[in-house]
Order: sequence, then C-alpha cells, then structure tokens
Amino acid sequence: MYDSLFFATFDPVYVNAPDICDVCIKQPPMFNYEYCIEEPGGQRQYIKGFCCAACAEGLLKKLKTREATEWAHEEAELEADNVDVTDFQKRRLATFGRN
Ligand SMILES: [Zn+2]
Repeated sequence: MYDSLFFATFDPVYVNAPDICDVCIKQPPMFNYEYCIEEPGGQRQYIKGFCCAACAEGLLKKLKTREATEWAHEEAELEADNVDVTDFQKRRLATFGRN
C-alpha cells in the first residue's frame, strides 16, 4: 500500500475555501489537503478538502499509524516465511518505535 498526504497553503482572497475545517468542522482551515489511501486490492481513495492545523497533525498521525502497521505486517509475513528480519525489524523500530 502506498498512501500519500499532501498539504498546500491557499490564498483566502482568491480561493473559495470554506469557513470551517472539513475534518473537525470547528476551526478555520489553514491548509488545502489531499489524502490518498491505497486499499489492499490496489483501489485508491482520495480525500480532499481544507483542514485546520490540528487536523493536519491528526492526518499525518493517521498516515504514520497506517504505515507502522503496514511495516509490522510485512515483517510478520517475512518472518512466517523464515526470512531473517533482523535488519528490517531494527529499521522499523528505529523509525516507528515500539508501540
Ligand atoms: Zn480541523
């Protein structure tokens, strides 16, 4: 799975942005975003909108969690096939920590 997340600033004078964040529906938006989630079957789901700074951090955390889960699953699959995962595991733990 290859997810992606892009943020961009916008000019409120020239862009018809909403008054409130599309994610939390509370704060004024700061960024324009596009979050692409690739499902196991390869289908891609694009979520686009405007979000506030707190929700931008939340979206990034969601991306991190999905990627950490993906790396852990990949490691488990390799280990089940009796592949030495020592280096991969070291890198995964250095990247995402133990959680
Ligand atoms: Zn928000």
